[in-house]
Amino acid sequence: MVKTCITCKKEMPSECFGVNKSNKDGYRGECKECIALRNKRYYKLVRFGTEEEREQYFRGDKMLDERQLRVCQLLSIGTSIIDIAEEIGISRQTVYDWKKQDEMKARLEELGQELILSTKRAVVGYGPYAVAMLKDLAENAESEKVRLEAICKLLDKVISNAVKIELSNGNDDQDSISQDLLNEELNEFDNA
Ligand SMILES: [Zn+2]
Repeated sequence: MVKTCITCKKEMPSECFGVNKSNKDGYRGECKECIALRNKRYYKLVRFGTEEEREQYFRGDKMLDERQLRVCQLLSIGTSIIDIAEEIGISRQTVYDWKKQDEMKARLEELGQELILSTKRAVVGYGPYAVAMLKDLAENAESEKVRLEAICKLLDKVISNAVKIELSNGNDDQDSISQDLLNEELNEFDNA
């Protein structure tokens, strides 16, 4: 099967994409290379970036407006379309339409990846941007349901993952990034 990466727009065989069971075709929208590049950018930013650069990264450099960014945040933590429409004050159809846009898809991939990376890395001292995002939602979302959801996600993702990593001694489950892989990636960055 040939698939087009939503970031670099190159066509390539499906082996070039990571697995994501929640996607229709079973693969991530972004190719492995693009993900690796962004991860590298993320490390660099966390280590050497200015506050302003981090802020910009966190907001995303895609051409999306405030409401669309907000929708991405909410989608990335699994908020339902109905709740999103209510929270943002738009129709459900608008949420569906936005979801189909490439820019939105790319931002969602980014946030999903960020959520994985920063929750895993929170325990080894990396800047938890996804955590900041969840905290923002927990404190500032209009609807109580969304606030509650964000708080639950925070507790669930961040704290339980942190504990899991501490306890697992590298015997991580399939979905999580193992300590070895993390070290490997960090070395790779150091040598870059
Ligand atoms: Zn790509």
